[in-house]
Amino acid sequence: MTRRNIKLQKFDQQGGKCAHCNGEMKISYSELDRKNAVDGYTIENTELVHAECHRAAKLQKATRRNRNYRNRIRVLRRMRFAVNYEL
Ligand SMILES: [Zn+2]
Repeated sequence: MTRRNIKLQKFDQQGGKCAHCNGEMKISYSELDRKNAVDGYTIENTELVHAECHRAAKLQKATRRNRNYRNRIRVLRRMRFAVNYEL
């Protein structure tokens, strides 16, 4: 199924409303958001959302990834400190 067809089907399924904010959408300003990026564009794996909502969601995901990365570094530093401390 083409992305265009998925979009049309989703638009119908969601009654023309954004899956994120539930606001009315124009199909030309809507985008498919993948729940799991690796699973690609399928009916099950996508939601139709405003282009704006899509951008906000992507930013949020990136921020979360970034935070996880920083936390890992912090844990590693603490571990190294603990090792040095014991020596
Ligand atoms: Zn929206």
